[in-house]
Amino acid sequence: MSGTSRAEAAASGALPAFLQSCLACATVVFPPRLACRSCGDDRFEPVPAGPGVVEQVTELPGGLRIASVRARGVLVVCSSTGALAEGDSVTVIGSPGDPAAVPAQVYLPGSAHIHNSAHTENEGTP
Ligand SMILES: [Zn+2]
Repeated sequence: MSGTSRAEAAASGALPAFLQSCLACATVVFPPRLACRSCGDDRFEPVPAGPGVVEQVTELPGGLRIASVRARGVLVVCSSTGALAEGDSVTVIGSPGDPAAVPAQVYLPGSAHIHNSAHTENEGTP
């Protein structure tokens, strides 16, 4: 979406994160689904997650933070090794490294990292 998120993504070596946007009704979907939750259509196009706002942060032992970030109207689960607070503006970008080992990373306000496929399957059952 913005040149800034792409620049930040490039600077950190991470890939942009994409959400699904329904081709029929433009509803944005995350995590990826087979059909639109709004109209049932099964055709999507990828849209950059872009900027978001942190809604909730949970700090785990060892300093890892799990953050819910509202981006394009949907809530995206991210993780962070840096300081992060509710209300912070962040840029949601793809997670570098091994997505199986670290499903999501957010380092700093202004450069959030997410991995956009592996969360919800694992949500609640780590
Ligand atoms: Zn739809």
